[in-house]
Amino acid sequence: MTGRADKNLYSFLQTGFPADPAAACLILTNKEEISYGLLQQESARYANLLASLGILPGDRVAVQVKKSPQALFLYLGCLRAGAVFLPMNDAYRRHEIGYFLADATPRLFVCRPQNRALADELAAAAGVVHILELDDDGGGTLAKAAAAQPDTFVTVTRHADDLAAILYTSGTTGHPKGAMLSHGNLAANALVLHRFWGFKAGDVLLHMLPIFHAHGLFVAIHCALLNGSSMFFEPQFDAGRALDILPRATVFMGVPTFYVRLLAEQGFTRELCTGMRLFISGSAPLLKETFDEFKARTGHTILERYGMTEGGMFTSNPYDAERRGGTVGFPLPGTTISIVNDAGAPVKAGEAGNILVKGPQVFVGYWRMPEKTQDEFTEDGFFSTGDMGRIDEDGYITIIGRSKDLIITGGLNVYPKEVEEMIDELAGVVESAVIGLPDPDFGEVVTAVVVRLKSGVGDALTEAGIIGSLKGSLAGFKVPKRVFFVDDLPRNTMGKVQKNVLRDRCKEFLLQRFKQNEVSNESTF
Ligand code: AMP
Repeated sequence: MTGRADKNLYSFLQTGFPADPAAACLILTNKEEISYGLLQQESARYANLLASLGILPGDRVAVQVKKSPQALFLYLGCLRAGAVFLPMNDAYRRHEIGYFLADATPRLFVCRPQNRALADELAAAAGVVHILELDDDGGGTLAKAAAAQPDTFVTVTRHADDLAAILYTSGTTGHPKGAMLSHGNLAANALVLHRFWGFKAGDVLLHMLPIFHAHGLFVAIHCALLNGSSMFFEPQFDAGRALDILPRATVFMGVPTFYVRLLAEQGFTRELCTGMRLFISGSAPLLKETFDEFKARTGHTILERYGMTEGGMFTSNPYDAERRGGTVGFPLPGTTISIVNDAGAPVKAGEAGNILVKGPQVFVGYWRMPEKTQDEFTEDGFFSTGDMGRIDEDGYITIIGRSKDLIITGGLNVYPKEVEEMIDELAGVVESAVIGLPDPDFGEVVTAVVVRLKSGVGDALTEAGIIGSLKGSLAGFKVPKRVFFVDDLPRNTMGKVQKNVLRDRCKEFLLQRFKQNEVSNESTF
């Protein structure tokens, strides 16, 4: 029953649905529209299906499918039935899927038909009771079974602390951890973002993000649903499609790579964006250069925000005041951020430290990892994000990087971002990543990986040239000892540079060189 005490996230989102059930919720690539009325009916069918399978509130439903309206119905159906939604990146393979199923012990696993044999094997090993299929066009045994269900469902009452979803973190070290998010966590963040970003009647969202991640699933979809908005619901990012749709949209949310790709399109013009109200970026650092170029090209100032799987959004640049490039703005209303040194004491303005956060959106803990959870929370309830940052005298927060990416060389701290910014300013550099490599003398040595322009000025860049240029402007210990050149920086689907991959590649490269006893002043891999 959706009584007064009900904190089911679906019931909360529903408060924003338009009065007219015929109003469009999803507008698909083939121009087909799914109305809010249909969304309610379809989510009811999926919720009924879950109940008919004996899935009880609190049971996990693991899902590894492509983005489709049916995948969204399933998410909403889980919320309504009180099941815990567990989306998986579709790039995950045997090892990862097996681990998630064994760890989360879902009652139902929804997979793509082409992965059925693997799903059967892994699900059997993990004791998963049901397997259903959802194909990339929204068909398959899941959709078929849902279609046979009644189209009304009384949304199950949930408390604010009851789990709504488990999202596994990317886990660059050790095993991925399942971040448990409650109905209360997700509702609190949806409410604050909806207000803070000024959502209003008539807003239309262009949705091109994946929906296995907090950015696309929670931040984007919750804001749109709570606003009763229409969403252009595209299967993935496509710059050409974005140019077609932008004149009909008002809000766009993307990872920095989306913005870089839009700017690479000649047809991406100011005229195309005249109807747009807001461009939001996050999930990875937006280069100041991209921020500036975007403003010059479109007249729009990208609003950058910061958050993570373990709680959604924590900070945002302001909607009505200055949005400062290279920063992630201020703590959201109701959120407290504290920047502390390794001893846990707050640092002075402008000084770098570890970012701690407290707020109603901060997750409940890691699934079946009570000790790990305890380690990551301070005694006074702050969550240690693992990110490093600083707050300037105006209160704007800058993210410096993950604390595990901090380089300690000869006992001195080097923040990769500071060195990357200097390298990126050199003529002929497209972008760079700075990492630490193990070294017997220094512990770690600063190492740069650089993408050069594929033209004259880029060709002229050499390892010695870059090191020489930096020597004049950076303290000696921060200057990279080695520079590697690559065609592209490895990034995950959310646009994050995978520094662990770079570290492995550099180590492997140096090992091979060492074995072959080769010496060269030009290293490309
Ligand atoms: P995820 O859990 O996949 O959402 O990744 C969260 C991490 O992405 C954070 O801990 C940050 O390291 C990074 N991140 C998210 N937003 C930003 C941003 N605007 N600038 C820099 N890093 C970001």
